[in-house]
Amino acid sequence: MALGMARGFLDKVRLDGTPRQHLETAAIVGGIVVVAALVGIGLRSAGLLAAVSPANAILLGLMVRYPHLATPAGWSAAVAAYFIADLLTGNSLLNTLLLTVASLAGVVAGYVLLQRESSATRQLVGPMAVVRVAIILVAASAVAALFGTIGNLLVPGTASFTGFVYWLVGEFVNYLAILPVMLTLPEGLIRQYDLKSRPDLRQIDFLALAPAGALIIACAAGLFVGGPAALMFPLVALLWCALSYSVFATAVLTLLVGIWTLGGLALDVISGWPDLDEGYALVSVRLAVTLMGLAPLTVASTMAAHEGLRERYELLAAHDVLSGLFTRHAFAERSNQVLAQAAKANMPVAVLMLDIDHFKKINETYGHWAGDRAIQTFAAVLKNTLSDGVLIGRLGGEEFAALLAGASPSDGAAAAEHIRQVFAATPIDLGDGRQVEATLSIGLGCAAQAPTSIEPLLQVADEALSLAKGGGRNRTVRRDLALAQMQPLAQANARSAR
Ligand code: GH3
Ligand code: MG
Ligand code: MG
Repeated sequence: MALGMARGFLDKVRLDGTPRQHLETAAIVGGIVVVAALVGIGLRSAGLLAAVSPANAILLGLMVRYPHLATPAGWSAAVAAYFIADLLTGNSLLNTLLLTVASLAGVVAGYVLLQRESSATRQLVGPMAVVRVAIILVAASAVAALFGTIGNLLVPGTASFTGFVYWLVGEFVNYLAILPVMLTLPEGLIRQYDLKSRPDLRQIDFLALAPAGALIIACAAGLFVGGPAALMFPLVALLWCALSYSVFATAVLTLLVGIWTLGGLALDVISGWPDLDEGYALVSVRLAVTLMGLAPLTVASTMAAHEGLRERYELLAAHDVLSGLFTRHAFAERSNQVLAQAAKANMPVAVLMLDIDHFKKINETYGHWAGDRAIQTFAAVLKNTLSDGVLIGRLGGEEFAALLAGASPSDGAAAAEHIRQVFAATPIDLGDGRQVEATLSIGLGCAAQAPTSIEPLLQVADEALSLAKGGGRNRTVRRDLALAQMQPLAQANARSAR
């Protein structure tokens, strides 16, 4: 198994890249690991949060989250960083070597196992993601503890089963606290944050801050009440946070609550707890606080999976499969939003209702499939001729609509005529060497001032379309919303589908 793991690891190591890239990778990984290791050693020697060593978890997180760092240069820099940090703080060479081997063995095991998971699981999305990652972290911690214990055999009298268990638990607690934050770090977190722009207080959604506020209150309340409730109060608030915030935010808050609780216990700020001297009691509490975090994390990752599904289905429901355009319902919904803005700004609007002439004939002559090709060709013409901001929908069958916000009647007429001419000149390729031509009838509905709903506009556009059909097809007819006047715009010889 160890051999298989080693092979799996070597397969994943990337060798490509320029010397400059290798140097950058080494600098990033080495720098981060040195700092993390020194912080861990510093905390340990200060007697605070004993056995918190973030270096392994941070290294594992870096390699999994940013695979371009997982190169020989990156891994070598990590080894060097462990050595430098330990030697700097006066550890013996033998001890440094043993610690580094144990740490790296755990990180590599975790890395190989995480690489085998789906990318969704690696980003903690899905109801089982947190459990799967937690199990992997137990395995990685066991590997580190095993190597550590074997190494300790070289230092007579220090290897023991208790030592193995403590090592495993200590490693697992660190991984479980830190890794979720690293795995869910949003892309471009630093770039998103513009230090120069001041936050606009009016834009802050204070209601969205309620769960975070509740968490602060819960932590403070835990301080006063003390005892086991000091753990449970924040847990309840964390669950609310998990229902409201991203997995990343939940992971960060869970980590902060863990640090707060363990720090509070270590400093004896949280009352009602027995003295947690080094040893069993401390390990148990540390494990309890960390495992508690699995609950909010699982809720947040389940919510994330849900949210992803909801977005996917919403996208599917809003789009017509054949044309890729908005469905009737989605078109109306989005149009109403656009119209609300346009109405506020006193803007004119124009709606085009477009219908392929004698479409049934294409179906009957060439088959339903050819009709589908005509619909797709027309959808492509619409997308290519109208600018990006224009809403386009397939209302049903071979009937389409487009909303032009800010368009005067002449703008609308120009757009309609342009589409009519481009479509008439675009042969519908049936894919078997045959081509069909078709024409459009267009109803143009105009309003000097945008109404707040699309319905009356669609109604006048539909009336105009009927007039265009009745007038012989292959033409645009305009009708204004307020005046309800009819004005034939352009006529051309009706060409039937050939
Ligand atoms: P007109 O010139 O008056 O517009 O007549 P038309 O034949 O173009 O239109 P009509 O509304 O009478 O018929 C539309 C046909 O479109 C009826 C229906 O079978 C067909 N249809 C509806 N949806 C689809 C589709 O997705 N694919 C294909 N191939 N045909 C469809
Ligand atoms: Mg038609
Ligand atoms: Mg029709």
